[in-house]
Amino acid sequence: MFDSRKVRRQFEEECTACGLCVECCPIVSHTELKGADSKKIMEEILDLFQHKKIGSLARTRIYSCLYCNTCTTHCPKALYPPHGFFVGKAILQELGDPVPKGISSILKFVGGLIENAVTSFRQDPEKSDCLITDVIKRRAETCQTVLFSSCFALIEGKVLNTTVKILQRIDPALKVLGGFNYCCGELHLIAGRPEQAKIQFDKMIEGLNTLSPEHVVIFCPTCNMNFEGHHPDAKWKRTFITDFIAGHLDKIGPLNRVEATVTVHDPCHFVRGVKPGSESPREILSAIPGVKIVEMENTGKNALSCGAYALNGAVKAGLEFRDRRLNQAKATGADILSLYCPGCHMVLGPEGPNKSLRIESILSLLGESLGIR
Ligand code: SF4
Ligand code: SF4
Repeated sequence: MFDSRKVRRQFEEECTACGLCVECCPIVSHTELKGADSKKIMEEILDLFQHKKIGSLARTRIYSCLYCNTCTTHCPKALYPPHGFFVGKAILQELGDPVPKGISSILKFVGGLIENAVTSFRQDPEKSDCLITDVIKRRAETCQTVLFSSCFALIEGKVLNTTVKILQRIDPALKVLGGFNYCCGELHLIAGRPEQAKIQFDKMIEGLNTLSPEHVVIFCPTCNMNFEGHHPDAKWKRTFITDFIAGHLDKIGPLNRVEATVTVHDPCHFVRGVKPGSESPREILSAIPGVKIVEMENTGKNALSCGAYALNGAVKAGLEFRDRRLNQAKATGADILSLYCPGCHMVLGPEGPNKSLRIESILSLLGESLGIR
């Protein structure tokens, strides 16, 4: 998993502060960095790494990053700027720099309030047929397929339940692992705790290994990207949820008509991840009779971020991104903005009705077509 010492060393030794990662960065013009010298911004980042000197340009750059992966192909030194900024958050916190409100809230989640969080989302893993959040407590049984549901899935409980029912048509003995106890470590990275992220990632792999599955299906594009980037030494095969379902459409039952004009929001971590994703989300939608897909501006590998990561540390910029994306969806004339990332759903979902847009997971639409709601 994420090796913060290595990332820090690489930035200190190899970053030349050329500023190319700033010039291609879509969030810059939405923040106080607008108009600033791109080289100066990155020199401040290096000053923080090398001399523990805090500058306002560096702080804004670190906390406003959308983790959209646009810059990751632009660095001439093959560095990964958003990872550098996770380490930057840790350095700022070590130096006692004030932590933005959004990050403080995440720190509460990752700092031991996990049980409360689970309770607040009204999930009762002990009473569920297949939802396992603690493999040690439940004494895991070996199984063929495991859905790794991610931590965000608890927030999108209805989508998760529909997904489980769809997957049970492919493997009735499906098991589910996830929840905050089995987060992939991303929440710790966002909070500026890269060392703990590594511990969390290893715990998640250990949990999955305990189930000895043949196949692990990943629900969240960010978890999928983390698996892809950190190559766990595991015996099981791993597939992203839309790829898995698109490959088993013949096994899930007849699809009924859903009359809807749908546009698709692609998540950054699927279309610009370590291994960019496929067409499977659109394959699923195209298989539903009655669904008409209309594409919005900035689609596929050019998709705009929903603003989620910036909302934690640069709220105004994050909200501007969220609204830009919703306006692009509205401009297509679609009734439904469909998505397949629980994080994007959490950001875009509550605001959709204000733009007269129904926000639905592709998996919920598939469930509707199968009579599962
Ligand atoms: S990952 Fe962060 S720094 Fe890189 S382009 Fe996206 S917002 Fe900018
Ligand atoms: S593009 Fe790479 S080398 Fe240039 S400033 Fe950004 S991280 Fe440093």
